[in-house]
Amino acid sequence: MAFLPLLAVVFVQARDHRDQSLTIARSQAEFLTSLSVERGGRILDRARTMVPARASSLDLLASQAACSAVAADREHHLWLGELSIVRPDGTDFCAEIPEEAKKLVVSSDVQAALAAGKVVTGEPIPGPTPDIVRIPLFAPIVHQGRTAAALVAAVDLRLFEAVETANVGRGRDVMASVINGRGHIAAVYPPNPELLGRRFDGQEMAPIAGQTSSKVEVWPDLAGHARLFAAKRLTETAGTVMVGIGLQSIVGPEDEEFQRQSLLIAMVFAGSVLLTLVGGEVLLFTPLRSLVRAAAAIESGDLSVRSNLHARGEIGALAKTFDRMAEAVADRERELRAANQAAEGALRQAEQANEAKTDFLASMSHEIRTPLSGIISYTELLLDEPLRPSERLYAKRIEAAGSAVLTLVNDLLDFARIEAGRTTIEVKPFSLVSLVDNAVSIVRALADKKRLPITLELDPDLPDAVLGDEPRLRQILLNLLNNAVKFTPAGRIVVRVDHRGTSDAGERIGFSVSDTGIGIPARHRHRLFQRFSQLHQSEGDATHGVGLGLAISKSLVELMGGRIGFESNEGCGSTFWIEVSLPRASRSALEPNEPGEVPAFGTARILVVDDLEMNRDIASAMLRRAGCEVNAVSDGASAIDAVASQHYDLVLMDIQMREVDGITATRRIRQLPAPAGMVPIVAMTANVLPQQVRAMKDAGLNDHVGKPLTRSTLIAAIDRCLRSAASVVPGPAGILSSAATEQEFDRKTFEELRSLLGDVQMPNWLRRLDVRLRSLQTLLDAPSPDREAIARTAHALVSHAAPLGFLRISHICAELEGACRSDSDLDEWLEPVRIACRNALCRLDAMAPASS
Ligand code: ADP
Repeated sequence: MAFLPLLAVVFVQARDHRDQSLTIARSQAEFLTSLSVERGGRILDRARTMVPARASSLDLLASQAACSAVAADREHHLWLGELSIVRPDGTDFCAEIPEEAKKLVVSSDVQAALAAGKVVTGEPIPGPTPDIVRIPLFAPIVHQGRTAAALVAAVDLRLFEAVETANVGRGRDVMASVINGRGHIAAVYPPNPELLGRRFDGQEMAPIAGQTSSKVEVWPDLAGHARLFAAKRLTETAGTVMVGIGLQSIVGPEDEEFQRQSLLIAMVFAGSVLLTLVGGEVLLFTPLRSLVRAAAAIESGDLSVRSNLHARGEIGALAKTFDRMAEAVADRERELRAANQAAEGALRQAEQANEAKTDFLASMSHEIRTPLSGIISYTELLLDEPLRPSERLYAKRIEAAGSAVLTLVNDLLDFARIEAGRTTIEVKPFSLVSLVDNAVSIVRALADKKRLPITLELDPDLPDAVLGDEPRLRQILLNLLNNAVKFTPAGRIVVRVDHRGTSDAGERIGFSVSDTGIGIPARHRHRLFQRFSQLHQSEGDATHGVGLGLAISKSLVELMGGRIGFESNEGCGSTFWIEVSLPRASRSALEPNEPGEVPAFGTARILVVDDLEMNRDIASAMLRRAGCEVNAVSDGASAIDAVASQHYDLVLMDIQMREVDGITATRRIRQLPAPAGMVPIVAMTANVLPQQVRAMKDAGLNDHVGKPLTRSTLIAAIDRCLRSAASVVPGPAGILSSAATEQEFDRKTFEELRSLLGDVQMPNWLRRLDVRLRSLQTLLDAPSPDREAIARTAHALVSHAAPLGFLRISHICAELEGACRSDSDLDEWLEPVRIACRNALCRLDAMAPASS
């Protein structure tokens, strides 16, 4: 940009010089034209005086004398090319005259002019050399009163001597010419005979040819080169003098100068740019790049990096400042690390303290639950006895108070677990309708007592099945429902479940519980979801909580990524709502009840293991009342002996026992040979923290039931366990050791295949399985079993049964095939395989209506 003004100045200067040169050339051309015309005019004037005078003095009768006089005159005047006498018919009088002169004489114009006694000036014609123009003059010779002949003079004009001698500047390409009235060249300088007679392009020359005053224009010459032409009429003739200076010779030097200067500027510019780049690179960019590298290293965590620049000026100052800043950052980092370590230490301590608090709460709850278990369970047993009305009332009050304390302990434990971050959300498919229905049915008894109808409003667009933590959602809903019942003296309760759309996280489901109760005073609303905040004294006596329910609900909803809120008018009721996003699940993912199941409970032999006599009594009494045969022992070692020596269908095992605890006893039992090692074991424990549940599963416990025992939960757990145990087929020790925990049938796998194949193909698969099982049975029952045929059928069953969920038969067939192919004894396999076949066929029979 800095060079642009300079370039502009050079350009303007070059243009001025060009204009100046053109002006000078224009005046030169005009001057040379005028000079030539003036010179020609002078000679023509003399000729015009001399020729008529001589014509009048000639006596044609003395023809010899006339001819001699004419010849003499020619000698006297240098500009006189020819002088002769011509008769009116064009024939010469003295000597042969040129053809051209003859033609002119006979032309009507000349004849008329001569007849009128006038002197005639003819068209300019080429002279003796190309640079001389000849002008013919005709003067009448009168004899005896009439024009008897004409004196013809050829005036040779050397017009261009001035052009030759004039100083028009070095290198100027000057061309001069005379053009006749028809535009043909009659003379040319520099002399070039080839141009004579040629014509300028008439149209282009029109503005110039025939002009009397001089005119200057740029025109192309005959060779096509542009010239600055000046033109002027040769006085009283039809000829025009034209002087043209080649344009290139006028402006060429100026253009060259302009180009030279432009080139010089361009070179200076390029040099400056190069210098700037090199200088910039060395002085600016290299140090800046090194600073950028150092900054990037610091950004990526290497705080030991410094710029190491020893530059001067601003860059040097920048480098020093950068190094100081890096030093400061390193110091801050050190401080921060120290502070972080301190904070982490404090956090660890806080976490340890929190853990200790949670552990304390867990063991306290255990300690509280154990005697509480006694209170509640003995009360339940007592209530089953025939009692006097007052005794029944007291027992009921004891049971209610015990339940309230149990709720309180459970809430405390729950809250401690949430605060310690030990609560996780477990996602499984479930039905929204069943969830809400189940929650409402739990509180309905309580609501009925207060004559509060509960209405359920379900959005028809609700998905059949969703993925989420059903127990946690039930806990939240129960809390809202319990509160609604608790704080509504009269009126009704409405439970609504809406499908509010679909988000990235799944289906947005809204649950709301509205009541017509006492409502929430505006001044207390901000405290509602805070822990231990009770806004009213609840109506019930022992059933009120400790103000933890809503705080727990809020934490759980937030763990699920949802929202919780309420609207309330004091005295007019409240609506508590939650909104959660739950991914849609396929309906088939819901675990249906096993088809054809029959309760296995009733005649089971059960071993109760507990070191507290009270607990043993309660559990035994509850189980006996349910029809079971019960034995009880007081420690883990006796339990192992009992299981090893007698058959039990199930063991109910306390976990916290002196000497051999429940976990150790279970591990040892699992090491016993089958069938004793496979006995289902259900833990009785108040320890329900997740890691404790994991430890129990690892030891081989099948299920657990929380203390204090209630009859319903105990019977449900035992029933569940006996049913799943019934599906495991006993077999030889070798087989069972690997298959002890294997399921006979996996419904999920079955349902997956069903959704894949559809209800048309599925029955075919089941029918083929049925056929294969029966043919295996036939092969096994043959008097001398065909090993190869058994191996083939077993092989087919391995891959047929597994995708249908028949895991046990698939597994045992794989081992049977191996036994057939290894030539080992088949006898020990026959019975377990027969049983497995029978079980599978029974199940197929039971499934037949469902699957078809
Ligand atoms: P609690 O277990 O004591 O009921 P919550 O956290 O569930 O604890 O509830 C805290 C307080 O909020 C209750 O003590 C009550 O004052 C108020 N509250 C909760 N639900 C309702 C409701 N539906 N109507 C009126 N007050 C309510």
